Amino acid sequence: MQDIQSEVRKVQKLDVQKSKGSGVMVMTGVAKKAAKKKGELVEQNQDALEYSSEEESEDLASAMSGLANSNIKQKEKVFKIDHNKINYFPFRKNFYVEVPDIARMTQEEVDEYRQELEGIKVKGKGCPRPIKAWAQCGVSKKEMEILKKLAYEKPTPIQTQTIPAIMSGRDIIGIAKTGSGKTLAFLLPMFRHILDQPALEETDGPIAIIMSPTRELCLQIGKECKRFTKSLNLRVVTVYGGTGISEQIAELKRGAEIIVCTPGRMIDMLAANNGRVTNLRRVTYIVLDEADRMFDMGFEPQVMRIIDNTRPDRQTVMFSATFPRQMEALARRILNKPVEITVGGRSVVCADVEQHVLVMEDEQKFLKLLELLGVYQEQGSVLVFVEKQESADDLLKDLMKAGYDCISLHGGIDQYDRDSAVVDFKNGKIKLMIATSVAARGLDVKHLILVVNYDCPNHHEDYIHRCGRTGRAGNKGFAYTFITPDQQRAAGDIIKAMEQSETPVPVELQTLWDQYKSKLAAEGKTVRSGGGGFSGKGFKFDESEAMAVSEKKKFQKAALGLQDSDEEDIENDLDEQIETLMAAKRIVREVQASTLVSGGGGSVAASIPSKTATDKLELAKRLASRINLAKQSTGPVPAIPETSIGAISARNVAEQLAAKLNTRLNYAPVESEEPMEGSVEEGGENTPSSSDVIQKFEEELEINDFPQPVRWKITSREALAQVSEFSEAGVFVRGTYCAPGKKIADEERKLYLAIESTSEMAVSKARKEIVRILKEEMLRLASSTSYQGSKTGRYKV
Ligand code: AMP
Repeated sequence: MQDIQSEVRKVQKLDVQKSKGSGVMVMTGVAKKAAKKKGELVEQNQDALEYSSEEESEDLASAMSGLANSNIKQKEKVFKIDHNKINYFPFRKNFYVEVPDIARMTQEEVDEYRQELEGIKVKGKGCPRPIKAWAQCGVSKKEMEILKKLAYEKPTPIQTQTIPAIMSGRDIIGIAKTGSGKTLAFLLPMFRHILDQPALEETDGPIAIIMSPTRELCLQIGKECKRFTKSLNLRVVTVYGGTGISEQIAELKRGAEIIVCTPGRMIDMLAANNGRVTNLRRVTYIVLDEADRMFDMGFEPQVMRIIDNTRPDRQTVMFSATFPRQMEALARRILNKPVEITVGGRSVVCADVEQHVLVMEDEQKFLKLLELLGVYQEQGSVLVFVEKQESADDLLKDLMKAGYDCISLHGGIDQYDRDSAVVDFKNGKIKLMIATSVAARGLDVKHLILVVNYDCPNHHEDYIHRCGRTGRAGNKGFAYTFITPDQQRAAGDIIKAMEQSETPVPVELQTLWDQYKSKLAAEGKTVRSGGGGFSGKGFKFDESEAMAVSEKKKFQKAALGLQDSDEEDIENDLDEQIETLMAAKRIVREVQASTLVSGGGGSVAASIPSKTATDKLELAKRLASRINLAKQSTGPVPAIPETSIGAISARNVAEQLAAKLNTRLNYAPVESEEPMEGSVEEGGENTPSSSDVIQKFEEELEINDFPQPVRWKITSREALAQVSEFSEAGVFVRGTYCAPGKKIADEERKLYLAIESTSEMAVSKARKEIVRILKEEMLRLASSTSYQGSKTGRYKV
């Protein structure tokens, strides 16, 4: 039976290859030579070629078992794409044609119009003007009909500005309040983008991927998407965790131009069955929705893995309710010259939500809730937020006893029940829901009249998101928050949100906050205005501090490429300074393949799928664990001392080697490794006999003359590991620190970073990330008043 199946596979493989030969374009060629002997990508391709829909039932079973067995190693194996080795087909991003009505507007009229649109703010150069009607943004006739059917008369403010920007091929960061219509803002340009490309072939993965933090949000986006895809003849699949996987696999295998997914499950899908279920080869459009929450929930590594393995010239669109500092770094990494579009200010409760805050003891909450239900339940659906899963279940019981038909939604509930709870709540079958924050994220229920924060949210963003569940799509909503007298600290966050949305702050809440501030003042701490935590001793948020913050923001924007034109000089200055200080030197060497130890994606060793490579990886792992053990036994390594960089080399090299191997780096030049006990024989046994000569790319970046904190940061284990992991190149600290004005010995070199890899792209990526960290650290330094003036540095920021 197996023989027959393998025969069938062979024939099918030939057929597919034949059809590929005559096919239009998928990806013009993984280099033929490479296809024979190298690359995990090739392995994927072959697997993909072997796939046939007739084998679906068999494949499904094996995919499932593959999935169950898939460990990190397997998943990583799938994610090893060297974009340098792929000639991607060209594709179009810019479809936008400005209509004469908009083109005729003067700049003043445009500014005024943006002001009318809830004060739209645009950062970044070359953003198209906002449109006024659907007909002005290039939607098709079919889409117009659907919009009409849905009674979406005109674009919402976020749509007026983001649709032309995305339609013109720009990467964007959209910052908009909940319920603003952002989903459609990325869907409409996406349809245009997809329809411009050739139809999917049998083994092709999606063209667009939409990532979102929760299953509920996935389902919602999927639903909005399906309203259009039917008549556009496109297919969308939602892929999210915590539920049966077989149906999702089967759907993916049938092919879909669009995948809406949570990042974790998407990684599982890509790894399943050696990449036969789906792949990223045709992805040219990526959306990160609710990116801040995705980040909060720790999805960054998965998101980055997916993004790093899609072609670098894709279009990337990021929507977020907030834009905290960590996200700026993420945005910088994944977006190309983005425009930032903010509607209604960052993180503000929508004006359509009437906010109330009541200070009360725990025992009073239930009665107050019943009172509110008495008033509002008749008018629409009600969502009650609690902190913990158990509280949700307890409250559910109490409300049922009180005669209310209700449901609960939290992470502890089986996915099937969660889905049906959401459906029942959305269609109004059940009008009262008790939920935890995470579960209810993104829940969009039009007839939701009241949100009750039964347990007070413990941070500002959470408060805004919870309140944002009501007052959607132009409807009026109410939000009541219960806060107990001991939750003084949370009062600050709510006050901040109320102030931002110009809502009067209740006296009791203000008193609570004032008490908290006095308590801290007695301890010698000062609280920042408008809530949001407190600082350590002696910190004063005065005018000079405000100026420093504004300066810092300017630099941050510059680093992100979001500067206004008059701020452009800052970025250029900083870049120039960094380039001068680094005095970069690039070298290409020809080396024997046998001198390289195996490792990850960009390396040659990784692209030889042989036993030797696997053995080498094992060896590298053992070496890493030995170094780790040695490291643990001698305790943590202090930061590199200013005067003894030369002396750190042996230990530092060992440190970095460990970090490097731990993060599955590409390779280590054999000559630089200290032979460890037992490793000589093992290494000798496993050394590849290949006499292939390959190119090894090296780049040296001098860091000697950077300020001390910047130098320390970039030579820290974390930073080096981060660069290595991100780029998959080896990064080493070499040379000796030489203080300004001192002369360095002839045989020595000033402190520098050496980047090495067999992939030129990995070296470039590492360089880019190093520059980014240097820049970030320089900016930090510039805004750190304590450092300024304390040094007589040669640099200025
Ligand atoms: P979102 O911010 O994408 O979650 O959208 C919030 C709600 O607004 C969704 O229920 C959409 O169906 C609805 N919506 C989106 N665009 C429009 C529009 N132009 N006019 C009216 N409603 C809209």
